[in-house]
Amino acid sequence: MNNPLEELVNALCRLPTIGPKSAWRLALHLMEQPEEEAVALGETIIDVRKKLTRCKVCFNFSVQELCSICQSTQRDKSHICVVEKPADIFAIEKSGRYRGVYHVLGGVLSPLNGIGIDKLKIAELGERIESEAPQELILALGSSADAETTALYLARLFKKKNLRVTRLARGLPAGMELEYADQITLGQALNERIDIIYGEE
Ligand SMILES: [Zn+2]
Repeated sequence: MNNPLEELVNALCRLPTIGPKSAWRLALHLMEQPEEEAVALGETIIDVRKKLTRCKVCFNFSVQELCSICQSTQRDKSHICVVEKPADIFAIEKSGRYRGVYHVLGGVLSPLNGIGIDKLKIAELGERIESEAPQELILALGSSADAETTALYLARLFKKKNLRVTRLARGLPAGMELEYADQITLGQALNERIDIIYGEE
């Protein structure tokens, strides 16, 4: 069995943006603190993990059936911004440039990784488009090859009259995940979003 401290370091290393050096620093810091503080942190993680569920409309994290954004009367329901994961909503909200609602796909299509249409909330998005009749679908899926393919697939799938399908303006560095984009770049990419060209068809 590993040294317990190394086990903690390995667990922390699995978190995004935490490399071995930071993991060691965090682990040692946690162990230097009074025991109650480390226990309280552990309990907070367990507690929040149990309380949070997914919004039944947009699949964002939520403590209730509907998340605060879907519940809000201040949000413009005629615009649905499609993102890969809840962290992207967090990034877009920080930009302060968006007043519409969201839809979390739960990933992007990736045949090589076995992520097909049925693994994502695509059918649910289709149902929302039918029932909510939005004016615009903003595909904010980052710039990886899989994300681009997914955006094009969705644009074709939901192409119909009275629904504008757009994507974020270029300007996000190639391959960058949305959640790591800075607020100003993201705000601009949202403001200058462009219509998706469907290609032949
Ligand atoms: Zn929601």
